[in-house]
Amino acid sequence: MSLDGTYDAGNIFAKILRGEAPSVRVFEDEHVMAFMDVFPQAKGHVLVIPKHSTARNFLEEAPEIIGPLMLGVQRVARAVRAALKPDGLTISQFNGAPAGQTVYHLHFHIIPRWEGVPLGRHAEGMADMDELKDLAEQISAMIA
Ligand code: AMP
Repeated sequence: MSLDGTYDAGNIFAKILRGEAPSVRVFEDEHVMAFMDVFPQAKGHVLVIPKHSTARNFLEEAPEIIGPLMLGVQRVARAVRAALKPDGLTISQFNGAPAGQTVYHLHFHIIPRWEGVPLGRHAEGMADMDELKDLAEQISAMIA
């Protein structure tokens, strides 16, 4: 998938938004939804997506969505920091398959990082669901 294309309403994040696919929810407001990445690159890897959007990537997103979305990303990132006390946080977003994008509904990754722990492989190795739920509760409790 390149940077060009049309939004596929059957993508997994659209299904999560419609309640047709499960997710381990961290946070939700009028504008954004945050849930645990099921193939985490580190403990506490969270995804933040716009709820009212058909943008496949950042370049396509409407200006009025970008503001609330980025505020949501910052809010969740602060909660991840407060809950898990990482040494650092990687916040990333991929556009197009050559850049590493695999799901074509705009999303941001929030990945806690610890000194000396390398980033895990992207979109590989499914997490333990009980552990994900526990992490989601810890992060959710720190949303300010
Ligand atoms: P990207 O490669 O930037 O498009 O990121 C897509 C992310 O979605 C990857 O990190 C996947 O691990 C993650 N992912 C794929 N399916 C699901 C799902 N059903 N629930 C949560 N995360 C998912």
